[in-house]
Amino acid sequence: TESDPKLAGIEPSKLSVAKTTTPKDLLPPEELVFGRNFTDHMLSIEWTASEGWLAPRITPYQNLSLDPATCVFHYAFECFEGMKAYKDSHGHIRLFRPDRNMARLNKSSARIALPTFNGAALTDLISRFVKLDERFIPSARGYSLYLRPTMIGTQRTLGVGPPGSALLYVIASPVGPYYPTGFKAVSLEATDYAVRAWPGGVGDKKLGANYAPCIVPQMQAASRGFHQNLWLFGEEEYVTEVGTMNLFAAMKNKETGQNELLTAPLDGTILEGVTRDSILALARERLTKEGWKVEERKFTMRDLAEAADEGRLLEIFGAGTAAVVSPVRKISWRGRLVDCGLEEGKEAGPVAQRMKDWIEGIQYGDEEHPWSVKI
Ligand code: PMP
Repeated sequence: TESDPKLAGIEPSKLSVAKTTTPKDLLPPEELVFGRNFTDHMLSIEWTASEGWLAPRITPYQNLSLDPATCVFHYAFECFEGMKAYKDSHGHIRLFRPDRNMARLNKSSARIALPTFNGAALTDLISRFVKLDERFIPSARGYSLYLRPTMIGTQRTLGVGPPGSALLYVIASPVGPYYPTGFKAVSLEATDYAVRAWPGGVGDKKLGANYAPCIVPQMQAASRGFHQNLWLFGEEEYVTEVGTMNLFAAMKNKETGQNELLTAPLDGTILEGVTRDSILALARERLTKEGWKVEERKFTMRDLAEAADEGRLLEIFGAGTAAVVSPVRKISWRGRLVDCGLEEGKEAGPVAQRMKDWIEGIQYGDEEHPWSVKI
């Protein structure tokens, strides 16, 4: 998936490494706050329209120096990824389905006229970077190193056009378990006054520009006592995503009584979550044997409320890299509270619990699986 075969691709063999002379102190793991602390180094690869990808560099973690006219600051030429490196019980480092993150970053960058790249080459470089900063990955279960591959347009111009230069960089942040004391089910506000994504838009890409406009609705939901927005779309009020996660609903079919696990289809308004895809694959492999039907299809807020009223709504949960799954207790919708079927006193339903156990088991190498890549 290189931009232009006449230009240079990312070349891991040309990597230069300049190690820090001032290594950071490690924080006690319990003091880690998501995305606040970073490792000693960063990986950077510059691109120009005339030469292609330049030699990759690992350097001490440092500020960027960019002209105020740089196009990223004006027209949001920015896309990113979120993935993690895990330390298994033997001390080996593992990535989880990195090919998926590489493919998604390529789709995001192509959509905003930034260059594409060879995903395997970047994964190779990320692996070297992670190994260099390995000491930042806590060994305890639930801990990991959050990786943030980022691409920005760096051309110094206020002209609106394709950037003639770009910077791809990767930074890394040690993170603790999303639920340090076990699952905590959340409550959602069904959001109809603001729209996260729309047909023909870019909601299926991981562009920075998709995230800033979601903060005010999130603050509004929080001011009314809800943790996150449940993003609805259209007059029909289709259920799309929750906060920055994909959404799954487990319910009994109205006609047949069969258990169904549902998530919205990839119709251009849904981010192609790696966790979403993993849950669908595991559900198709392991839940269908128990009589479950697994479907990617559109469903509405009314469908959920009706299932709740009829006692058919079993579970709702979000799915994403940060938490793996995030169980939902209730949804505020049109002045009523829809109860999502969690048993009194429970913080997660059985499907969410098993998905988290299965996926973490693979991520931490307890279950050998092709998704978990030892580096
Ligand atoms: N939807 C949105 C809008 C997101 O930002 C994310 C986080 N990347 C997800 C879903 C979940 O994707 P993943 O499972 O790849 O983390």
